[in-house]
Amino acid sequence: STSMASEKEAALAAIPPDSDSPTIFDKIINKEIPSTVVYEDDKVLAFRDINPQAPVHILIIPKVRDGLTGISKAEERHFDILGRLLYTAKLVAKQEGLAEGYRVVINDGPQGCQSVYHIHVHVIGGRQLNWPPG
Ligand code: 5GP
Repeated sequence: STSMASEKEAALAAIPPDSDSPTIFDKIINKEIPSTVVYEDDKVLAFRDINPQAPVHILIIPKVRDGLTGISKAEERHFDILGRLLYTAKLVAKQEGLAEGYRVVINDGPQGCQSVYHIHVHVIGGRQLNWPPG
């Protein structure tokens, strides 16, 4: 689809994975740009993806990146936040009524089609999903 092509283009054009640069998600955390927040606590923020790939498409991010540009940069100090991100995926899926199932995704790097280098967990659902992904 065209949206997949543009996602891939965005991923290939994105800041390299070793970058320490801020991302658009900092502005979402700081509420400098609007987003539709569906869950928030002291550690994580969950909001609707601006380009949803299904009826429900939510992104869950740590409020503090702490070097976690992507899952490939995970260290032992990230164990707690990684657990929170996955647990929040379950919470928001339940909140969104995804009782028939859903998918939890972390894209990493150019070949994984990562386009924002602040780790984020996708929760995608609300329709029958296909496997394998493209
Ligand atoms: P990735 O491809 O890096 O795994 O996912 C990044 C996601 O962030 C994409 O699905 C994209 O639509 C979403 N995204 C990018 N910019 C914004 C934004 O400004 N607001 C929101 N809500 N989502 C965004």
